[in-house]
Amino acid sequence: MAQKIQSIRGFNDVLPADSGLWQHLHDTARGVFEDYGYAEIRLPVVERTDLYKRAVGEVTDVVEKEMYAFEDRGGEHIALRPEFTAGVVRMGVEHGLFHNSQQRVWCTGPVFRYERPQAGRYRQFHQLNVEAYGINGPDVDAELIAMSARLWKKLGFTGLRLEINSLGQAEARARYRAALIEFLERHESSLDEDSRRRLHANPLRVLDSKVPTTQAIVADAPSILDYLDADSAAHFDGLRQGLSDLGVDHVVNPRLVRGLDYYTKGVFEWITTELGAQGTICAGGRYDTLVEQLGGGPTPAVGWASGVERLILLLQAKAAELPASGPALVVCSLGEAAQREAARLAETLRDRFPGAGVQLSVGGGKLPAQFKRADRSGARYALVLGEAEIAARQVQVKSLRDAAFPQETCSWAELPARLESLLSR
Ligand code: ATP
Ligand code: MG
Repeated sequence: MAQKIQSIRGFNDVLPADSGLWQHLHDTARGVFEDYGYAEIRLPVVERTDLYKRAVGEVTDVVEKEMYAFEDRGGEHIALRPEFTAGVVRMGVEHGLFHNSQQRVWCTGPVFRYERPQAGRYRQFHQLNVEAYGINGPDVDAELIAMSARLWKKLGFTGLRLEINSLGQAEARARYRAALIEFLERHESSLDEDSRRRLHANPLRVLDSKVPTTQAIVADAPSILDYLDADSAAHFDGLRQGLSDLGVDHVVNPRLVRGLDYYTKGVFEWITTELGAQGTICAGGRYDTLVEQLGGGPTPAVGWASGVERLILLLQAKAAELPASGPALVVCSLGEAAQREAARLAETLRDRFPGAGVQLSVGGGKLPAQFKRADRSGARYALVLGEAEIAARQVQVKSLRDAAFPQETCSWAELPARLESLLSR
């Protein structure tokens, strides 16, 4: 036998048994986004590497260590997208979407980061990404967060914690940064190695350290909320008010920061305790200067991204409550003439019951073996055609789920009405 080729570490398949969950998630998300008037966009998977360097920031982990960047055969420096926002801004500036207009958009698809793979952390993962442009907020910030809360509710998630913070605008953040560096320098020898390295390059990121000894130190660090400019402070108060008005509970965490450089003012994260260390299922905030940074006009902006694989893990934990996936009907047959009739019947039923799922039992075999396959597909009923049924223009209807259901004979003429009633149960 030839040697098997395996998938690349951190890159996953979605197998047939799991795709129902992914579809359920995407259908639910799309419904929620449409309910708020957000339009779908689709973006390329690769962009110029410079786009991410300028948007996300050269000294961020994402750009410095995690980006899949390479030269293509024509010598262009391109990168697999490590996030969506930079691409959305590039698109909006390129197509003039931000001129005197508001945009509410969403997108989804794979993103790529060279990280250490573990449960809930992969090298190819997927995001749901939602953004609003041209609106100063904070009403739209609250809308975006309420939209995520509605999505969690529709997915049946409970016990999530919403943390919010404000990172202020450039000047206020610079003042805070200086105060934080001064504080951290006083504790430099007790910081973990990563945090010592970040102390001067990206000190806010130290607040976010997962190392317990560092966490204990930063617990006493100055709070960014004491350094906010008046505009950011008013925005933050408005956001908190907006969230209470919409009934979205939240806690303020002055140590909450984001890994991408472009954030200003309000930021937030949704956290679950069910996924261990990979507990953040959604994160976002405002990035009012990013459009200008990428060559557009002044355009306030806010958005969030959620990790689809982490949402799927949460859904899997409660998979029993989800609607069954798979076909509703399997058409089985015995003998060549019946097999051809079964294929025709299956087509007729697909016309009559779009969306139900009608699978044809193919490849022959004895009926018990066909029932077993039908059962594994998750179908509710098997329809059976043999020579006798064809002669009498009848079909046997057998439940694959309800042992008490007596197998019944039904004429071809009556079959649609009978199935209508059975499938609506
Ligand atoms: P983390 O701190 O977990 O690395 P992050 O701050 O880098 O997250 P964002 O860039 O804000 O994450 O991405 C938004 C969301 O995408 C995260 O909240 C998380 O749910 C998900 N996510 C981020 N990185 C990964 C990954 N490598 N694998 C799976 N999901 C991820
Ligand atoms: Mg990360």
